Amino acid sequence: MDLLTITTAILLGWMLLIITLERLFPYTPGLKLFREGWWLDLVWYTLIQSYFLKILIFDYILAPAKSALGLSEMGYLSHWPIWALVLLFLVTHDLYIYWFHRWQHHNKILWRTHEAHHSVKTVDWLAGSRSHVLEIIINQTIEFAPIVLLLDNETAAVVVPIKALLDAMWGMWIHSNIDVNMGKLQYFINGPQMHQWHHANHREVFYANYATKFAFFDWIFGTGFLPGLKPLKHAFFKPREYGLPYEYPREYFLQHAFSFWRFDVKKVENHPWVKPYIEWQQTLLRWLGLDPKEPSAAAAETPSSTTAKPAQTTLTP
Ligand SMILES: [Zn+2]
Ligand SMILES: [Zn+2]
Repeated sequence: MDLLTITTAILLGWMLLIITLERLFPYTPGLKLFREGWWLDLVWYTLIQSYFLKILIFDYILAPAKSALGLSEMGYLSHWPIWALVLLFLVTHDLYIYWFHRWQHHNKILWRTHEAHHSVKTVDWLAGSRSHVLEIIINQTIEFAPIVLLLDNETAAVVVPIKALLDAMWGMWIHSNIDVNMGKLQYFINGPQMHQWHHANHREVFYANYATKFAFFDWIFGTGFLPGLKPLKHAFFKPREYGLPYEYPREYFLQHAFSFWRFDVKKVENHPWVKPYIEWQQTLLRWLGLDPKEPSAAAAETPSSTTAKPAQTTLTP
């Protein structure tokens, strides 16, 4: 059995396990499996976008860079054991992600490449896949460049799929709607609690919990947030509202257009040339019995006074 078959099988098994745990122990009770936006996240972001970006990043950026730099036969770190290489790239990549992610939240231009990720109103196992095309190109090129450039092709062909598998598994885990209290372990590694908070539409977390795998980066650099570990003025223990504090398009191409050009979302979505395109997908889902217009359970609750309505932040349209 080749490595790709093994990693795919592990990923599918992991997905089923996470979905089952979400059903058994939900963080936010009442969320639907086929929630609003799942078609967008599964078909456009997970399948179509990932497929084309993998070709672009590996075949058209990293492979030519490797041969141009004369590194094809080198493999400076190839003598390291696989587990040590995976660990090295996990930690260094997460340190990079911490700072780049933090910059994205503070910089108005970079925020445009990250707001798509925060537009999910129902945070579950699939929600992490929603990332702007530029965000993926930047982050995955930087993530995989040292692996491809510092290892010979044979070793890279083992480390790349293992790293990609761990990324995908961890992405599902931290976004999952599983009610698990990891206690003091959350000073070290990331779990759903910290990342569910990162996606909350609450002022307290607009600039918190940037790390994806190793929570210690947030605690070291002073951006860790968890009620209980860091008490609030208005104490509450779970987010009440998710998503962006402003209107955002529902469709893949409009979401990308919106990052370059701010337009009236409702007006454009209702334009006679655009509306049928958006509606055919919803009609198809209704025909399949998967109504995408299901409201999230969180929306049923009345937001508290702590619900964020940012005034002077970069998180504005
Ligand atoms: Zn973020
Ligand atoms: Zn996220």
